[in-house]
Amino acid sequence: MTIFPAKLTGLFTAVFLLLLCSGVKAAGVTVFDQVHVLPMHSEQVLHNQRVLVQGDRIIAVAPATELALPDGATVIDGGGRYLMPGLAEMHGHVPPLVDFSGMPARYLDDVLTLYLAGGVTTVRGMLGHDQQLRLKDDIASGKRLGPTLYLAGPSFNQHTVTSAEQARERVRQHKKEGWDLLKIHPGLSLAHYQAIADEAKQQGIDFAGHVPQDVGIEQAILLGSRTIDHLDGYMAALGGFDKALTAADLAPLVALSKKHNVAVVPTQALWQTIIGASDASQLQAYDELKYMPARVVAGWQRYVQQPGGAYYSGDSAAVHAQNRRLLLAELHRAGVTILMGTDAPQLYSVPGLSLRREIPAMASAGISNYDILRSGTVLVGEYFADKDRFGQVKAGQRADLLLLDGNPLQDLTVLYQPAGVMVRGQWLSRAELDTKLADIAAARQAENIR
Ligand SMILES: [Zn+2]
Repeated sequence: MTIFPAKLTGLFTAVFLLLLCSGVKAAGVTVFDQVHVLPMHSEQVLHNQRVLVQGDRIIAVAPATELALPDGATVIDGGGRYLMPGLAEMHGHVPPLVDFSGMPARYLDDVLTLYLAGGVTTVRGMLGHDQQLRLKDDIASGKRLGPTLYLAGPSFNQHTVTSAEQARERVRQHKKEGWDLLKIHPGLSLAHYQAIADEAKQQGIDFAGHVPQDVGIEQAILLGSRTIDHLDGYMAALGGFDKALTAADLAPLVALSKKHNVAVVPTQALWQTIIGASDASQLQAYDELKYMPARVVAGWQRYVQQPGGAYYSGDSAAVHAQNRRLLLAELHRAGVTILMGTDAPQLYSVPGLSLRREIPAMASAGISNYDILRSGTVLVGEYFADKDRFGQVKAGQRADLLLLDGNPLQDLTVLYQPAGVMVRGQWLSRAELDTKLADIAAARQAENIR
């Protein structure tokens, strides 16, 4: 970590400073004053900065001594706190706009709020449904409060894909409808997967998600899956469900992943639960469960308490979990892009708040604090470079920011209770977040009483 010398970046900043110095009034500017900035394009902290935000953009980052406060600006006193980019959930889910499953009417907005309260300002939604693109637009235009969404369309699986030609048509349709990527589920044949991959390439749309059994991890990587989610495809190929693997066992697939520049979204904490390697009583004690509908939590509880446990279960769960840890460590060591994701809301992954379960799981694979932060910020910005600029604190980037009471490079737990969250320029103080969280918890309690 270095103390960075006074340095202004970008023409944008320079022009803006001129405006400020000439006394032009800057309408609607918010200033974070006296903050230590983690810009996230390198491992450094910029001390005692002023960060200016206008609309949904960061417009200037400079030492407080070199940047005047614009007239009429809203000033957020940083008080020596730390400012970093908002985090991303790269394998998230968003409830339907119109729900037919009997969930509380407010559930969708609660999920969006929970993401923000957890510091998640971007969600890659991994299963599209009807009207979700409208939801994305409503959030982007400020009609609805929530993280910025990038959305996979409805699932490609053995039920929705009936032939190679129909698969291609479905790819073209998803592209035309405006989905950001194609969601792959298990069950596809290799021939259908190849057709999807080829058409996706022609249409310029990503595909990602699960690795169908008939395809296998190697073909999924070779055919260009943008991400490999959950890591289970690696375990399936190597027999890692029940026998201990070594780094040498993993090396060929790790090297292939690096060579083909595929990113992985480990969803490590979730998978620990799925395979029966989590302690059910600990899961049940998670404080964040109070924000979820009781019937959802009851379903999760049934899953972990079913006789014989989960998918892979039994004595092999600990071996399997250790294999997954080793795989994540080896992927990271080889320089494969790791992206933060928890598959919320799903088995004890409460939207946003699930990061406090995933982050320790990433750390236990030996990933440094800086690289864990990168997985949810700058690397996500690079992943979505064709959509927008975000994931760093610098002029021109989307104003998605977390204000933190301490330096997350030293202690990641400061992420779990941000002093405030800014999403596309809209500021939510800790007090506002607490009010919203209390309101969600109260609604859940009231539902239980009814
Ligand atoms: Zn999922």
